[in-house]
Amino acid sequence: MTKLDQIRAAESRLLLQTYERNPILFVRGEGVHLVDEDGAKFLDLLSGIGVNALGYAHPAIERAIVNQSRALIHTSNLFYHEGQAELALRLTERTGMDRVFFSNTGTEAWEGALKLARAHAGLLRSEGKQIGTKFLALEQSFHGRTYGSMSTTYKAKYREPFAPGVPGVEFVKFNDVADLRAKFSDDVCAILVESIQGEGGIRPLMQEFFAEARKLADSTGAFLIVDEIQAGMGRTGKWCGYQHYRIQPDVITLAKPIAGGIPLGAILCTEEAARAIHAGMHGTTFGGGPLACAVAIAVIDAIENEDLLNHATEVGDYFQQQLRDLARKHECIKDVRGKGLMLAAELDSADLAKLTVAEMLKRHIVINCTSDTVLRFLPPYILERKHVDEAIKALDEIFTENTAAVSAAHQNAGGNSLG
Ligand code: PLP
Repeated sequence: MTKLDQIRAAESRLLLQTYERNPILFVRGEGVHLVDEDGAKFLDLLSGIGVNALGYAHPAIERAIVNQSRALIHTSNLFYHEGQAELALRLTERTGMDRVFFSNTGTEAWEGALKLARAHAGLLRSEGKQIGTKFLALEQSFHGRTYGSMSTTYKAKYREPFAPGVPGVEFVKFNDVADLRAKFSDDVCAILVESIQGEGGIRPLMQEFFAEARKLADSTGAFLIVDEIQAGMGRTGKWCGYQHYRIQPDVITLAKPIAGGIPLGAILCTEEAARAIHAGMHGTTFGGGPLACAVAIAVIDAIENEDLLNHATEVGDYFQQQLRDLARKHECIKDVRGKGLMLAAELDSADLAKLTVAEMLKRHIVINCTSDTVLRFLPPYILERKHVDEAIKALDEIFTENTAAVSAAHQNAGGNSLG
């Protein structure tokens, strides 16, 4: 029995069976590559689902972890430490927001943002304003797995087994301005969007829709809350996705790449939103601990010192162009979209998408598939053109070899899954 087999057997006995893991045991990483137990290198175009922004074994992260863990790992939020204000300053300066609350994960940041919206609406009511408690979320949205996040996440498969969810959520058709107008009223305390939907298939918001959401929210004092957990912290070539639209939200959430792989999330809000929160209303034991803050500061500094926002734009544009060229050659690619290094190629069949992910893995390239048919690319920001070329060559081979086979199998199976 290999070490991987032993681990698989133990996990199947001991863990809740929530994950369908790929049968690979990664033991370390270097730059944009992961390395398995046999020393084989894999080009990582997923970066732990959009987390490892600086790739693996980046010296700035290693230094921050070593230094901070020697000094202080945890104090709780009962005491001051050096990191929170310093990190909050870096984040507010780069986002145009005023204040920060640190959490541990994305879903927890999103929960806090929802609580902030309802608390703020309560404050406005106490000041005589007419505003309700309803959330307008978008179809195809994904905001996480805890109750509030799950309840504002669109797909039924994430919500229904755990019903009833948090009440007061209505979904608006994605990018449908008329539907947004029809569903908005003074009952709404917040409009909830991702600037670029991640799990929903790398779908950017339309400028017109985003602007209308801002306008409607302003008309009643409701919040526009933007989930930047996947798109934020430089992935799209700007610090946040909404900055491409020149629209300023009331509240944003960050997580995933913020501390380069150490768990950390953040809610950023305006001074007006912060009026709704006073001591004891919200909190966390671990959130914003010294270690996570020190690493996040090192990540932001490295992104700037290495000019990685411009690099993500440049390599991302190249990647997108190569995918578009590939789409001209292979009809199975229905659409290519995204910004910077948050990219997708939508295929015409779920079977082919699944097969492509597996075939890429056989060629030692890690990608994933979201929304059944969408190949998703969330590589580390240090990706280079030569890595893009390697991925495009592999995709070209896979589509050349497999599109005919998949469509034949599809027809034979009467359209059923290849399994
Ligand atoms: N929001 C968005 C846009 C996400 O992509 C995710 C995770 O994929 C989450 C929230 C939840 O984050 P976490 O898994 O850290 O709880």
